[in-house]
Amino acid sequence: MVRLSVTLSAEVEEVKNIYPSSDKIWFFKLKCSNCLTVSENFVGIDPEEKIEQRNSTVNLLMKCKSCTRENTVSIEQMPPIKDRDQSGENNIQLEMARFDCRGIELEEFDPRDQWTVVTTSGKEFHDADLSNDWSEYDDSASASICVLSISSSINKIK
Ligand SMILES: [Zn+2]
Repeated sequence: MVRLSVTLSAEVEEVKNIYPSSDKIWFFKLKCSNCLTVSENFVGIDPEEKIEQRNSTVNLLMKCKSCTRENTVSIEQMPPIKDRDQSGENNIQLEMARFDCRGIELEEFDPRDQWTVVTTSGKEFHDADLSNDWSEYDDSASASICVLSISSSINKIK
């Protein structure tokens, strides 16, 4: 079993926080720990998918196409992240989710959509697509909101 955490990094303007929707589907390329085969496509891990597995509930149960081993991933509860305040920062690096992986590792993350961007004035833009650079105009604060040069990393939790 390995616990992995996903961090999103970006250059931002007028952004206070970014967090995923509670129903966000997380897309990864997955690597089987047994035979080291990496999935060709991105596979979605859906928090609303609940699969009973022995003594626990997992969000993904996948049979490796190469070695046929059954591997699982569960999305872990995160400490509260909706109240984070990054106001005044131009470069942010925020942990977004944690995963409990059994027999499998997260190899590559695709951010896609289902993000909430909170502006420094407190306005929330829901369902932001962070696949590419993202920008909006906040009328109430007469400010441009930008999330640029988005990248991500996957780290082991010790
Ligand atoms: Zn395998």
